[in-house]
Amino acid sequence: FFLSPAEFVKSATNLSMIPENTMIPEVAFVGRSNIGKSSLINGLVNRNGLVKTSSKPGHTRMMNFFKLGDKLSLVDMPGYGWKSRDEWGGMIISYLQNRKNLRRIYILMDPSHGLKESDAQIMKLLDSSGLSYQVVLTKMDRLSKTKYSAAKAEIEAELVKGSICCFPLVLGVSSKTKDGLDELRAAIVKASQL
Ligand code: GDP
Repeated sequence: FFLSPAEFVKSATNLSMIPENTMIPEVAFVGRSNIGKSSLINGLVNRNGLVKTSSKPGHTRMMNFFKLGDKLSLVDMPGYGWKSRDEWGGMIISYLQNRKNLRRIYILMDPSHGLKESDAQIMKLLDSSGLSYQVVLTKMDRLSKTKYSAAKAEIEAELVKGSICCFPLVLGVSSKTKDGLDELRAAIVKASQL
């Protein structure tokens, strides 16, 4: 099944541009730049090109809002890691802390890179704000099953150590082979009903 039909709502580069808080459940996607976030959102809604997959920094600096009828709102958050945390900070932190309809944040990580310092910082921020998040490992197709399992176990061990608000199930996806997309869609639907 797909999360569809999805349509673009708007892009926001500052707080005043963010669509008003509604009752529609919302989930947000975060991750370091180039993690495969655009490809993943397009894959989830089965619409190539909904989110521009572009290496142009301009595209990823914005928060992009999408909706699936009046059932679900998806937010593509700016990638982090290539600019200072302060820059990522202001708008995003206010959004995260004030968004009443935000049900879960999906943190994307590349299993071949492991858990990075910038990921840990974001998780700390979400923990301190009591925001529910779940880790999704991208580009699964790039690793053998054995290597993927080892990388996942390593990341899970890191999560157990420090995280508080982390949903205790790490998902794996490949936008290329579509592996794991149904499981992630199901998780999103479930989280949106919480
Ligand atoms: P974003 O910057 O996080 O939005 O990342 P993109 O979706 O633009 O992807 C960054 C790069 O990773 C692009 O070259 C994609 O083709 C590649 N990529 C994204 N998802 C996958 C995947 O599942 N498998 C593989 N092998 N490559 C991927």
